[in-house]
Amino acid sequence: MDDHIAPRRVVILGGGFAGLFAVRALRRAPVAVTLVDRNAHHLFQPLLYQCASGILSSGQITQPLRAVLRRHGNVRCLLATATGVDVYARVVHAERADGTSVSLPYDELIVGIGVKQSYFGHNEFAQHAPGMKTLDDALAVRRKIYCAFEMAESVTERRAVVKVGRFHASGVLGVADLAVHPHRVPHRLPEPVRGTAQLGGGLRLRLPT
Ligand SMILES: Cc1cc2nc3c(=O)[nH]c(=O)nc-3n(C[C@H](O)[C@H](O)[C@H](O)COP(=O)(O)OP(=O)(O)OC[C@H]3O[C@@H](n4cnc5c(N)ncnc54)[C@H](O)[C@@H]3O)c2cc1C
Repeated sequence: MDDHIAPRRVVILGGGFAGLFAVRALRRAPVAVTLVDRNAHHLFQPLLYQCASGILSSGQITQPLRAVLRRHGNVRCLLATATGVDVYARVVHAERADGTSVSLPYDELIVGIGVKQSYFGHNEFAQHAPGMKTLDDALAVRRKIYCAFEMAESVTERRAVVKVGRFHASGVLGVADLAVHPHRVPHRLPEPVRGTAQLGGGLRLRLPT
């Protein structure tokens, strides 16, 4: 007689904080976990500002999920984007990196796919205040900032303008990072303004003296 009992199948969507905490909670449980993420890495979102301002590299705020979970014998990682869940059939549908589809049957499903930014009904703000949730978001902001520095280097007037989103906390924090660590900017910029700088939207930023 076959007395083998298959472990319960747990599918976790998302390898962010929520997904990783779930994996940790199940560490000693007799379950087979499949962690599905559309990225191969875990992203430490609180350091996105520093990546956007160029103070940290993308490699310093991400870690491969397989490396994070290498000691978790009951977990397998799958690089795929979840596209749907059939809760009646208990199956997750996902698209793999090469565009092929995969179906993942589960006994238990944990969803931790994060959130996206909200403009509180004003989606027209998006073009002026880009999101800051993903690595791509941070790298896009970094490109803009360093493009602005590139242009500022050749400005002859004693004034350079770094434009940040008016209602975007991460924009202000990112610029504050650069104000605190001006030596990290490799460009030869005009002498910085001392004291208080006036930003858009009536925001004032105290700069180091
Ligand atoms: C700029 C910034 C600064 C922050 N600073 C702080 C702070 O100082 N202190 C603090 O406590 N919190 C901070 N937070 C909040 C904190 O980072 C989040 O609350 C936390 O990361 C949320 O974790 P999560 O697992 O729910 O989602 P996420 O970390 O967003 O993880 C979701 C995961 O799901 C994956 N995913 C999404 N959709 C799919 C899909 N369809 N298929 C497969 N995978 C998918 C994503 O790739 C991601 O890996 C900050 C957030 C941001 C953006």
